[in-house]
Amino acid sequence: MNLKISALEFVQQVQDGNISAEDFVAKTMEQIHSVDEKLHAFLSVNENAINQARLIDKKIKSGDKVGACFGMPISIKDNMCIKNEKTTCASKMLENFISPYDATVITKLKQQDAIFIGKTNMDEFAMGLSTEFSAFGPSRNPWNPEYVPGGSSGGSAVSVSAFECVASLGSDTGGSVRNPASFCSVVGYKPTYGLISRYGLISYANSIEQIGPITRTVKDVAFMLNIIAGIDPNDNTTIDNKNEDYLSGIDSGIEGKKIGIITDMMTDGVDPSVLSATKDAISKLEGLGAICEEISIEMVKYSVAAYYTITATEAGSNLARYDNLRYGYDFSVEGYEFNSYISKAREKFGPEVTRRMIIGGFVPSAGHAGKYFLKALKVKSKLTKELDEAFKKFDLLVAPTVPILPFKIGEKINDPVSLFLVDINTVTANLTGKPAISIPYSISNGLPIGIQLFADSNQDKLLLQAAYALEQTVKLPEVPL
Ligand code: GLN
Repeated sequence: MNLKISALEFVQQVQDGNISAEDFVAKTMEQIHSVDEKLHAFLSVNENAINQARLIDKKIKSGDKVGACFGMPISIKDNMCIKNEKTTCASKMLENFISPYDATVITKLKQQDAIFIGKTNMDEFAMGLSTEFSAFGPSRNPWNPEYVPGGSSGGSAVSVSAFECVASLGSDTGGSVRNPASFCSVVGYKPTYGLISRYGLISYANSIEQIGPITRTVKDVAFMLNIIAGIDPNDNTTIDNKNEDYLSGIDSGIEGKKIGIITDMMTDGVDPSVLSATKDAISKLEGLGAICEEISIEMVKYSVAAYYTITATEAGSNLARYDNLRYGYDFSVEGYEFNSYISKAREKFGPEVTRRMIIGGFVPSAGHAGKYFLKALKVKSKLTKELDEAFKKFDLLVAPTVPILPFKIGEKINDPVSLFLVDINTVTANLTGKPAISIPYSISNGLPIGIQLFADSNQDKLLLQAAYALEQTVKLPEVPL
């Protein structure tokens, strides 16, 4: 049984009767049991998955209507709610929280007969980019377990890369789908803001974050979008995508498309191997008939500062509910007055969440908001204007996904600012609401490099066409598991 197949191949093979969902899921479980002690992609595994797959096989045999996933094992970042399952956000605060309802993406995948193989590890409440801020220990990079897999959806990227599932869902507030996809050599997609419902995604900075697929191929992203994208009455920020079919015409190519090279994301600070991979990708895009030209997006240099100011503010507000009165864990109120009780409850937050909550209380506060929060909002709107202008001239933009290679576990953990700066190439898509994708492009010293493409809002289909075209030019070694 070959686990190294794409989502589309899985569906085809089950439909053709070459494999059964049960055998595939059983084999996937074996893989999890053999590699996950080392890689720690999962926080919990669905021990009932094989039985669920068996039921789908039965439906297929008896000729009943079967959903588009045909029992495909999918992993889910542990900040999305699956009814009656734990959703911990990799935090001690929610260690025993059981979701009372399904997120919209989960409902949609259930309707299509997907099997949720497990909940994946992440930075606590999605704050971080290495998975080292998980309260339950870091995930490891399958390409070299001494290195971080990226984050915050690190567990999701690891699980796809190490064949512990066929596809995964992560969330991307400032790069958390694209960064680990780049570090683990898989595909990561951040859609146009509003394309995928956030109902049932535990909020970190809801004005900019999106759920996004992590897959082995660009076509698999399109397949997943066909299932999970679209308007949702439970999330009034969702947009009506008119049931767009993202797979149809994905191989249309990029002949004549204009692509802007974002020079501000390719500065001296970028690792030379990342830079040369990006230049190589640009010449491949030209070879495919695209016209590439440099463009400067001035606000990029302020984007990280603006991003952390805005996200900390939203986090400060969103995470206020973990006061042990509404959400939290159990301890006696005996001996505490109101404020000290809540302070005590918040000791369950780890160091990064605590840092963000403190910043989030300070930057929007009276007397400081003008200097920090309001300025950050100005950067956000100027950056958006700049990109809107850029997309009048270009169909797409290109840059490295992450300016550096994966780093060693522990290397940056005590230097939060150097960690924040790693987000320089990803936060622009979030602050502006534009879609962006990372595709595997190269391997340097055994470590993966991803290339990022951006498109204008609601041009997700065009973005996937371009990413697919570039993907066809890439041939990479297999992950050395
Ligand atoms: N590294 C960023 C942060 O810590 C991005 C996280 C994310 O996209 N969830 O906020």
